[in-house]
Amino acid sequence: MILVDDIEKACKLIKDSTYALALTGAGISTESGIPDFRSPGVGLWGKMDPMEALSTDVLLNNPEKFYREGFKILRGMENAQPNDAHRILAELEDKGYINGVITQNIDNLHHRAGSKKVYEVHGNTRTCHCMRCKSKYEFKELERQVDAGIKVPKCPKCGGMLRPDVVMFGDMMPQDFELALKEAQKSDLLIVIGSSLEVAPVCYIPDMVPHLIIINLMKTPYDKSADVVFHDKAGKVMKEIRDTMENT
Ligand code: NAD
Repeated sequence: MILVDDIEKACKLIKDSTYALALTGAGISTESGIPDFRSPGVGLWGKMDPMEALSTDVLLNNPEKFYREGFKILRGMENAQPNDAHRILAELEDKGYINGVITQNIDNLHHRAGSKKVYEVHGNTRTCHCMRCKSKYEFKELERQVDAGIKVPKCPKCGGMLRPDVVMFGDMMPQDFELALKEAQKSDLLIVIGSSLEVAPVCYIPDMVPHLIIINLMKTPYDKSADVVFHDKAGKVMKEIRDTMENT
């Protein structure tokens, strides 16, 4: 049950903040039909081990296995559409209530919803690149080659191996992560939506921000230090926050 007092408290925190950010994880996209990693029964953990399937170890040492297994997780996201939570974050940014979104997601749904400042700290599924000559291509190039029966997609220019621009387990963090840390240093409110806050190093970001709103179905390690916590669906809570902000 969502308490009116908690919604009002969250709205006040957002309105009083001078530099608010959202931090989103896989849970914001489950209502768009993309499973997360850790929800019991439905998460991807149960079906395969993403730490192995989406690792640099498999990508580099057994690329055929990567393109046979891990790649399926990535391409399962292409037809998903943004949901209310993604759309309301874009609206809050438009209205100047939040200053950007740091996302662990690779599903492109914040962009599709219209968010402008998005820090994709685990990369994206819009592009890929050649590991030899660094040429950039659309993600669709990988899909085209895999669908044509090619076991390991190759660079059309130099024949090097192509890889998605997704941060795999074992990869270095991208430049967006550095930018996200700089944003977090400036910020006085973080709205965490749909993240177990268990994946490092992103899980250290809430420690950098004085005020915290958490919207997550399951408990997180930061619940005790948050100003307000909602253990409910992201779309439902965000709609209540948006409606209350409009009417107060
Ligand atoms: P996570 O899977 O560890 O945690 C997701 C959390 O979201 C869970 O605690 C769950 O209780 C909660 N949740 C699920 N549905 C929800 C809903 N409707 N409303 C509110 N909360 C909900 O996710 P994470 O913290 O993002 O870390 C997992 C890693 O997996 C990240 O690195 C991310 O890149 C990657 N991942 C991304 C996608 C995606 O791009 N959509 C999907 C799966 C995994």
